Amino acid sequence: MKERPIRLQDLLGLLHHLYPPVLAESWDNVGLQVGDPVAPVSRVLVCLDASEQALDEALRLGVQVILCHHPLIFQPLKRLSPVDETGRLLFRAVREGVAIVSAHTNLDCAANGINDWLAAALGLEKTAPLQTGGGDLLKLVVFVPGGYEDRVAAALFEAGAGAIGHYDSCSFRTDGVGTFRPGETCNPFIGQAGSLERVRETRLETVLTREVQGRAIQRMLKAHPYEEVAYDLIPLANQRSDVGLGRIGCLAQATTLGSFANLVKQALGVPQVRVVGDLDQKVSKIAVCGGSGASLLGEADRQGADVLVTGDVKYHEAFSARSRKMGLIDAGHFGTEHIMVKHLAEVLRQAAAARRLELQIEELQGEKDPFLTV
Ligand SMILES: [Zn+2]
Repeated sequence: MKERPIRLQDLLGLLHHLYPPVLAESWDNVGLQVGDPVAPVSRVLVCLDASEQALDEALRLGVQVILCHHPLIFQPLKRLSPVDETGRLLFRAVREGVAIVSAHTNLDCAANGINDWLAAALGLEKTAPLQTGGGDLLKLVVFVPGGYEDRVAAALFEAGAGAIGHYDSCSFRTDGVGTFRPGETCNPFIGQAGSLERVRETRLETVLTREVQGRAIQRMLKAHPYEEVAYDLIPLANQRSDVGLGRIGCLAQATTLGSFANLVKQALGVPQVRVVGDLDQKVSKIAVCGGSGASLLGEADRQGADVLVTGDVKYHEAFSARSRKMGLIDAGHFGTEHIMVKHLAEVLRQAAAARRLELQIEELQGEKDPFLTV
């Protein structure tokens, strides 16, 4: 029997299961940039930026998908023409049949994403997200007839609902009386068409994230015995503690800002870092944010970080760090993000193997920081 080829949409499913697009910032454009979702895929090239170099390498390696961090289509396009740089790349990608997919702020915020990799590379322990997002949690309340509570709850938990921190299967149940009158055309599980019913029901409530919402509701409806299920899905203002921008954690041993800056330089393989602060000051609590994260300086300070490591630091941000007596290390946008290539490639290899998907994941070699140090 011939196996069904892996399609681009299978790869997107795998990627978005690991790095859900709902975690991306509202201004971002993650996921499919160019490509036909049903096109077959056997080889993927992971890189930081979709570039001419990445496309050349994709063609040389016979790769069908470029998976990059920075979205190729960011500003809304007014035309598709090879007269500008983005247009040229898009044109070539379409002509050559190479798809382009981006994992950007979803990869920044998710667990086992860029900021976890960055924190681990710098030796941080006991890390937590630096800036957690709100509005991503939902409460589900469903009314279940007596005897069916466990079945409906199990279906919800299996779909990923009911997780709070490191606890799973969290729910609350209250008993009460539900009333309903089935219409003439109904085929009710309890009672008869046209007559008012009073039934002992349990109000079952649990929490869920937007990533699992679709699957959880689908499974809940399947496990519920009623023809018409009464349920409420309520957005919560609670913060999620498991995902968010940046990370904060501790060094196993306190050191000086100067030595830590050297450690950053070596760990990230960058030719230089820029440092704000007293090089002799002791540091142990460290905040990190790959890319441009200087806007998290205030949050890092509030949480007692001694240093923030990020890229793209501007003069006034450096000035602000100095006024706060906080250390600030600029290891460059490229320097703090390029580690995503090897890590994302490895995560995908393992995820593909676990799902028995025959995907070959390549890493773009020779990608360089546009900035030179002289
Ligand atoms: Zn970036």
